[in-house]
Amino acid sequence: MIERAQALAALSEDEFDVVVVGGGITGAGVALDAATRGFSVALIERADFAAGTSSRSSKLVHGGLRYLQNFDLGLVREALLERQLMVALAPHLVHPLPLVVPAFDGARPDRLMGVGLNLYDVMSVDRDRLRSRRGRRARAADQRSAGEQGNQPVKPQEGESWSPERHRVISGEEVLELLPALGEREPTSGYLFYDCQTDDVRLVLTVLGEAERFGAVCANRLDALSVIEHDGRAAGVRVSDRESGAELDVRAANVVNATGVWADRLAAPGSDAPPGAGAGAQEPAGESRHGQELPRIRPSRGAHVLLSTEDLPLLGGAIIPAGSGRTIFALPWLGRTLVGTTDRDYEGELDHVRPSTEDVDYLLSAINEFFGTALTPQRLTGAFAGVRPLISSGDPKKSVDISRKAELYEASSGMLTITGGKLTTWRRMAKLTVDRLVARDSRDAPCRTHEIPLGQAISAEDLPRVEGVPAESYAALAGRYGHAAREVLALAAERGELAQPIVGGLPDLLAEVALAARREQARSVGDVLLRRTRLGLLAARELPVQLVAGVLAGELGWDDARTAREIEDFAGEALAEGIAPE
Ligand SMILES: Cc1cc2nc3c(=O)[nH]c(=O)nc-3n(C[C@H](O)[C@H](O)[C@H](O)COP(=O)(O)OP(=O)(O)OC[C@H]3O[C@@H](n4cnc5c(N)ncnc54)[C@H](O)[C@@H]3O)c2cc1C
Repeated sequence: MIERAQALAALSEDEFDVVVVGGGITGAGVALDAATRGFSVALIERADFAAGTSSRSSKLVHGGLRYLQNFDLGLVREALLERQLMVALAPHLVHPLPLVVPAFDGARPDRLMGVGLNLYDVMSVDRDRLRSRRGRRARAADQRSAGEQGNQPVKPQEGESWSPERHRVISGEEVLELLPALGEREPTSGYLFYDCQTDDVRLVLTVLGEAERFGAVCANRLDALSVIEHDGRAAGVRVSDRESGAELDVRAANVVNATGVWADRLAAPGSDAPPGAGAGAQEPAGESRHGQELPRIRPSRGAHVLLSTEDLPLLGGAIIPAGSGRTIFALPWLGRTLVGTTDRDYEGELDHVRPSTEDVDYLLSAINEFFGTALTPQRLTGAFAGVRPLISSGDPKKSVDISRKAELYEASSGMLTITGGKLTTWRRMAKLTVDRLVARDSRDAPCRTHEIPLGQAISAEDLPRVEGVPAESYAALAGRYGHAAREVLALAAERGELAQPIVGGLPDLLAEVALAARREQARSVGDVLLRRTRLGLLAARELPVQLVAGVLAGELGWDDARTAREIEDFAGEALAEGIAPE
């Protein structure tokens, strides 16, 4: 990404076609889609990129088996197709993950679950998939006739969809191979099916990086205070720079509000449109809600906890009953086991959301009952919570039953608000929004994001070896940065002290701290530990905060007093976020 100072200069000097407010996955997606269709784009983020809900998901790129229960078939189908596309566009960042629904004591796997999985299989088949299967068969034949080994896997080409195997029933032994943590319970069979997994923040940063490649200008620590209007039309946003305290106007012909759970808060000064005015209008989901200024958000908190793989070893994900017909996931993620999530109405402050004691107890007791373990909160390596931007339809449904569909609102000023949805469906949400901008300008500019690779995938073997870098770091770097991992390694080669891991036993390198400041607008210890790397969640109780602050100080020119203040600020942030439950 371009340097923040450079971005600020462009934001205050230039006039843009579109300003996007919010640097989560939705805003990043809108910026990319608009930039690739020829719009000049500015994106501003109040805190840090992905600091809102987009760093707090379950990290699944999935159809959402659970939403079949609510007959949200359109949403599931759309998300399943996006899932396959994401694997093709960002194979280093979005990986297929086996998931298991185990059965015990000789019982047959649950019939209803089998029906759901059948539907899931059917809904994930698309024409592209059939075409890519035919394409792969043809390339395999070409490889054979060219004398290459016929049993080599034929990788999907760019733009081709990954096609998951159909779900199937597996034996107790196979269940144990995927879920060794079930050793105490002796499963007798189970369903095996596939979804995909990612690092949500890295997905946001990668999409933003692509948007910048197409000319978008993005900056964090810029708070949109209000919408600027000329003759009643949205013409930009008044912004406060949270670092300098200065205010500036970002001028743009169109304003897109992609602020997630904060979506009902952005308006022109003195605007008489109350938040969520007109909410409850019965219009089709996924379409522009003319006449309704802003959505009414009904936040729902979801918490996750992380455990070491020694405490809960998993190679695949497990679907776990958690009472009252609810299920939770336990998933292998970045060398830990990620357990979540809860789903409760939330009325607290939105800037720092922490898992409650009740959330942690709920997740741990479901885990302990299912795996036959006795894990306590002290065993957790980390925890986090986030708030879903659910759109209230006015009825008193439970948050679990509220649809995850995205909706687009158009205010009388022309400002577009896009919210709801899921991490998985970001590209569709962006398309819905930018299609509207294109229609407004009568442009001929079809959406292109289905064919734009996200980052440049590279295999760990193709990365140069650098003295001092642990063997396991190469795969982690390739997965996180793709081709740009070479920059991290070049830094480690240039400054040997940066070749070491940040936390012993985990693959993240100190060189990444420097790179985060230079190339990814990281401005604080929290930016590095909670988002550029995920160490704040993976190893919350053993973070070398001074060491990280020292590297950042060198990059950002902090003196001793500033460094001490930043260390203190991180302690406050970690506490407010509840990353290390008592
Ligand atoms: C517990 C949980 C689990 C989930 N799991 C999954 C999952 O596994 N798979 C999936 O597909 N989806 C999942 N989701 C849903 C998904 O995470 C969200 O739908 C998605 O991240 C929302 O992204 P967003 O960009 O709309 O919002 P956000 O990520 O919240 O981004 C909005 C941004 O706007 C910024 N902002 C706010 N006000 C201003 C302002 N005035 N000026 C400038 N910036 C501003 C905020 O700082 C924030 O960064 C989950 C959600 C939760 C809570």
